[in-house]
Amino acid sequence: MAKIVVLGTGGTIASRRDVAGGAAISKASGAELVAALGERGYRLPDGVSVETEQFCTIGSYRFDLDIAFRIARRVAQHLADPAVAGVVVTQGTDTMEESAFMADLVVASDKPVAYTGAQHLADDPDSDGPRNLTGAIRFVAAPQSRGLGVVIAFDGEAHAARDATKIHASRVGAFSSDEHGMLGEIDGDDIVIHRRPLLRRTFETEAIEAKVDLVRLTMGTDARFIRCALDTGARAIVIEAFGRGNANHEVIARIRDAVAADVPVIVTTRCPAGRVKPIYGDGGGRDVEAAGAIFAGDLQGVKARVLLSVLLRACDHADLAKEIHAFGG
Ligand code: ASP
Repeated sequence: MAKIVVLGTGGTIASRRDVAGGAAISKASGAELVAALGERGYRLPDGVSVETEQFCTIGSYRFDLDIAFRIARRVAQHLADPAVAGVVVTQGTDTMEESAFMADLVVASDKPVAYTGAQHLADDPDSDGPRNLTGAIRFVAAPQSRGLGVVIAFDGEAHAARDATKIHASRVGAFSSDEHGMLGEIDGDDIVIHRRPLLRRTFETEAIEAKVDLVRLTMGTDARFIRCALDTGARAIVIEAFGRGNANHEVIARIRDAVAADVPVIVTTRCPAGRVKPIYGDGGGRDVEAAGAIFAGDLQGVKARVLLSVLLRACDHADLAKEIHAFGG
């Protein structure tokens, strides 16, 4: 009998309202969510037993990098048990792409891991939670899901943690991998894998660096946020720059300050898709590069931040550019 562990952390999938019109709060444990599957008529795959564990019961908007790292470590501990075939983490969708990517970076196992959740509350008659949880359990129980790294299994789709982004605040089709496309589908009993992610690496680390800030550039920005990050102890700064990685002269001066202070600056694009590349002068990407920033390809800013939080503890500063390059930078 293959054992699947469901690690509950809260989120909409576990949230109910106390009173009509009241605030929705995370309450249900992973055990309750699994028990509810049978009540709703969902069937788990044959030959699979499910064990549940509650890690925390909060909305994912309250997560930080450290919680995401500790969840990932717990996932790794479960996977180290030869009896465990895979792990499902139930979590809020708001920061799921960051947590899943954290686990993808630090869990070195070929066994399948899926993060899932819901857009509709657990007490909503139309809740998508039971369907998503059943799909995620089916996904991790399937032998063809091995070696894919951590995925987000949601609304019948499986997305690589590196590429998945929450694209809708309320609809059940919450995640997309944009131009890279999903890895596979969960079509009832059938798990179909279309492709395998190549831009993946795992790192051994006992800790992460939580002081990594993300600054999004806006038209006319005067670099106050970058200065603030520097003044308040950021150990690295990710910048979501314009287009191909362009900025302006004021921002570039602050990037130079950061690099001089040994605070790495990583440049991503604020566009939903596409790669940064140093092309333009006069405040553009060429000047950003000359100021010492590292270009992170098409990694989204939030993903680059998670990657930096791991790399700052898992490798030397001198190797950052090389490591980021391995993710498509
Ligand atoms: N909207 C969120 C969810 O899907 C809330 C959270 O992230 O916890 O669960």
